[in-house]
Amino acid sequence: MTKKVEAAVVEKRNAPFELKQILVDDNPGPKEVLVHIVASGICHSDEAVRVGDAGDLPLPVVLGHEGAGIVEKVGAAVDGIQVGDHVVLSYDYDGTCDNCLAGQPASCVNWGPLNMGGKRPNGQSSFTKEDGSDVSNFFNQSSFSTTTLVQDHNVTVVGKDVDLRKVGPLGCGFVTGSGTIFNTLKPEPGSSISIFGTGAVGAGSLMAAKVAGCTQIISVDIKPNRLATAVEIGATDTVNSAEVDPVQAIRDLTGGKGVDYAVDTTGITSVMKQALDATGINGVFAPLAVSQQEMTLVPFNDLVGAQKTITGVVMGNAVPQTELKRLISLWQKGLYPFDKLEKTFKFADINAADQASTSGEVIKPVLIMDEDYTV
Ligand SMILES: [Zn+2]
Ligand SMILES: [Zn+2]
Repeated sequence: MTKKVEAAVVEKRNAPFELKQILVDDNPGPKEVLVHIVASGICHSDEAVRVGDAGDLPLPVVLGHEGAGIVEKVGAAVDGIQVGDHVVLSYDYDGTCDNCLAGQPASCVNWGPLNMGGKRPNGQSSFTKEDGSDVSNFFNQSSFSTTTLVQDHNVTVVGKDVDLRKVGPLGCGFVTGSGTIFNTLKPEPGSSISIFGTGAVGAGSLMAAKVAGCTQIISVDIKPNRLATAVEIGATDTVNSAEVDPVQAIRDLTGGKGVDYAVDTTGITSVMKQALDATGINGVFAPLAVSQQEMTLVPFNDLVGAQKTITGVVMGNAVPQTELKRLISLWQKGLYPFDKLEKTFKFADINAADQASTSGEVIKPVLIMDEDYTV
């Protein structure tokens, strides 16, 4: 059985999103869930796939991996998710490999095929065109659709009082930034951190650093309006790296020591090196951007002498089902004001929303698929 949906299809590399009527398999397999999408954030990774900068996912594809919606149907073997539940969607994982069993599903050995392979775990397509040809999915989620088919591991159930038009982006951009702080860097209260870039990932790191008790949070960007926003959500200091050398500025701000922790969300060769150099003795640096740019260093000079660490972190090393609830709880208490960074767009305006994201005009565009939804 299939159901007609309206989805934003990317037909070829660099082609725009086109809203089309296609078909979704609306007969969920044992561990699958059919979700009516209310809203979805747009992430830079969607854009990276559209333009061919992130792997070789077969096209055409329905992108989108920051969805929020309402459960329409559940498979026979799904536990803890009911029809009518309100849900936030994140990445997929198998739940059975050693890393998943150790509580680290972001390190799932099947992460790549499950999230970037374009097919469901059973090898079938979620979506087809009227002529029967396959359309790939993304993250086993494909939230740029009015209804989508996901795996139970994609799903986090949230309260019905949570505004579904706001919380979709918690599933990727914000959790990537904040999970890096909570689950990997784990800064001590009173420590210092510098965050390069003020997009959704950088903002997530910044808000989490404040929650974690960092007392000096230095935001680095080249746009004054973005730095002003960073101050609104918790930055204690800002550095405009178009005007001054950020490494020197950070040393000056920390009494010559450098910061304890640094995060880069830009993925730019020179900026990643600056972020590392801005850390002090025993500093830890986490580069987070989806980027193909290199970082060059002389290990002895750049790491050994000061015993520095560079650590990779994917999806904030987070378990979505617990992390998203933590972020929502912090948000409800006014401690994680991520929705200040969002701007909503009509689903039909997806290309304009995408453009607003890539130009930096909007930190987190959110598409509204269900204009009738109210809390
Ligand atoms: Zn796994
Ligand atoms: Zn993403």
